[in-house]
Amino acid sequence: MAPVSTKKRALTGLLSAAAASVALVAAPTASAVSSADVGVQAVNLRTPFDCGQVWNANTRTNHNPQNAVDFQRGDALGKNVRSSAAGTVETVRNLGNRSYGKYIVVRHAEGWKTLYAHLNSFNVSVGQSVSTGTVIGKVGSTGGSTGPHLHYEQIRNGVVQRAVLNGVAIRYFGNTTITSSTGC
Ligand SMILES: [Zn+2]
Repeated sequence: MAPVSTKKRALTGLLSAAAASVALVAAPTASAVSSADVGVQAVNLRTPFDCGQVWNANTRTNHNPQNAVDFQRGDALGKNVRSSAAGTVETVRNLGNRSYGKYIVVRHAEGWKTLYAHLNSFNVSVGQSVSTGTVIGKVGSTGGSTGPHLHYEQIRNGVVQRAVLNGVAIRYFGNTTITSSTGC
């Protein structure tokens, strides 16, 4: 394992600051989501983690793509990454030390796809059918990542959307505390 770089220490500090500020940010409630929003997302995309696990969902204007989500927590490395919905594994690819690193794309119904990047390892292969909550990989820090986290995208008809997790819109831009209910 490579020694922790100064850069990683700096990032850890940032993440701690972000986590500390999360408590001040009220998580959106289900009632805040209009029926129109739910209608757009007919496929219910779930938080891609174990039941009961708490993550910070970070969004920011300088993220690429801008509507992507970085899921963060102190002990992120090696945590299970679960498919947000049923579907077919479309991509399992390793870009090496750049961009997404090891990443997976799952194709769902109605033009939806989800993308999971910087993975440490893969648990599925291309063409495999998955259910909501199937473990598809493990959280890592591969590619252009400075510390373990999950880079996550909800894509519809090729366009990355603002993420809605289990019917709840997360905050753009900022931090939202999410407790996964996937598989509960
Ligand atoms: Zn990211």
